[in-house]
Amino acid sequence: MSDARAMSEERKQFRAGLALTMAATAFALFGLVSACGVTIFSLEDETAMGRKVAAEIEANPKEYPPYRGDPAVERYVNEVFHNLLPAGAVEYQEEFAYQVRLIDKGDAKNAFALPGGFIYVYTGLLGYLDSEAALAGVLAHEIGHCERRHASKRITSYYGAQVALSLVLGRNPGMMAELAANLFTGMAFLANSRSDEREADEFSIDVLADTKYYPGGMTFFFEKMRAKGETEESSDFSQLFKTHPAPLERIDEMNERLMARGITLKSYGATGEGIFRERYQREVVAKLR
Ligand code: ZN
Repeated sequence: MSDARAMSEERKQFRAGLALTMAATAFALFGLVSACGVTIFSLEDETAMGRKVAAEIEANPKEYPPYRGDPAVERYVNEVFHNLLPAGAVEYQEEFAYQVRLIDKGDAKNAFALPGGFIYVYTGLLGYLDSEAALAGVLAHEIGHCERRHASKRITSYYGAQVALSLVLGRNPGMMAELAANLFTGMAFLANSRSDEREADEFSIDVLADTKYYPGGMTFFFEKMRAKGETEESSDFSQLFKTHPAPLERIDEMNERLMARGITLKSYGATGEGIFRERYQREVVAKLR
C-alpha cells in the first residue's frame, strides 16, 4: 500500500469515526430532550406516518374489521366529530388529516388515535355509551392525544431519534409494520402515560366547553364503568387499560376541573341540555343492535 493510499485510508477512518461520534452526540441530545416530551417529527411527517399506519390497519381486516353496518351510524359519528374540530383548542385542523373510522368489534370498548389525526372507535364502545355528549367526550380526548402529539413523542423517545428519523425519511419500511403490530401486542406505540391521559382529559373539557355539549362528557364512560363495577380485569376493557391507563382515578380529577370552571356536574345517566341522549339512543345504540 502506498503512502498516499494509507493516508487516504486513515482519513476515511477518521471521518467515519467523527461521523459516528457526531451521530452518537446527536443521539444522546435527542435522547435527553425526548425524555422531556419532544418530538423530532414535523406535523407533516406525523400525518404521513399516521397515514401509513392507517394503511396497515386497513390491510388487516381480520384484526381491525371495518364497520359494515348501517351507514347512518358512521355518518352520525362523523357529524359529532366535525362538531368538535372548530373548537378553539384544536390547532391543527389544517395540518392533520382529521378523520374518524369505526372498527366492528362489539366486545371491544376502546378508541385510539394515530399521529396526524386518524382516530378509531370500536363499535363495542359506541354501544356502551349512553349519549352524544359521552361520544363527543371520547372523541375530543382522542383529538387531544393527536394535538398534544403524544404518539410521536413516544416514538421519538422509544425508538431513538435516529430510527425515528429513518422512519420519517421512508428508509425503514419494516418499522412501519412493526408500529402497526404494536397496536395490539406491545402497545409501546399507543400506550399513553398517566400524564398523557391527564392532558387529553383536560383537552377534552376545553374542546367540549366550546361546543353545544356538556364539557364533562368524557367522565360518563368511566362513571358508568365504576357504577357497574367493571374493572381492569374485565376482558372487554383490557385494551382500553393498556392504551388509556388509570381511568377510574381520572374521574375525580376531571370533576375537580369542571367544578373549578363553575360547571354543574352531571352523571352518565343525565338527559337534557348538552347531553343529546335520546338522539344517541335512536341513531346509534338502536342501530347497532
Ligand atoms: Zn387516552
